[in-house]
Amino acid sequence: MRVTTAFNKILGLSGASVLSVAFTPDGIVVGLRRRCRRLVCPCGFSTRGTYDRSRRRWRHLDLGASRLYLEAEIRRLSCKRCGRVRTEEVPWARPGARHTRDFEDVVAWLAQRP
Ligand SMILES: [Zn+2]
Repeated sequence: MRVTTAFNKILGLSGASVLSVAFTPDGIVVGLRRRCRRLVCPCGFSTRGTYDRSRRRWRHLDLGASRLYLEAEIRRLSCKRCGRVRTEEVPWARPGARHTRDFEDVVAWLAQRP
């Protein structure tokens, strides 16, 4: 089994597939490719027009003793509803977050324990 296939199965992310896996001194960096071509603004507006693009890394849940990061291209769109340039929404993280939803949910759950 290819390592990208294995990570696709392990992570089970919706809306993205694993393109690359790199073992770095910081941890495992999983490169993602989005399945959806359309850009979705956090307000719900969607478009095909890209304003610009960059790469972002999100801390995900650790895998064994290794830190795990997701990395993907993230685009900005000129939102007609918001009237300004905004960063698109991704399925695995909240807008503006540098941690994944799963990571934040576990932190929140741990914080509620006595
Ligand atoms: Zn918007």
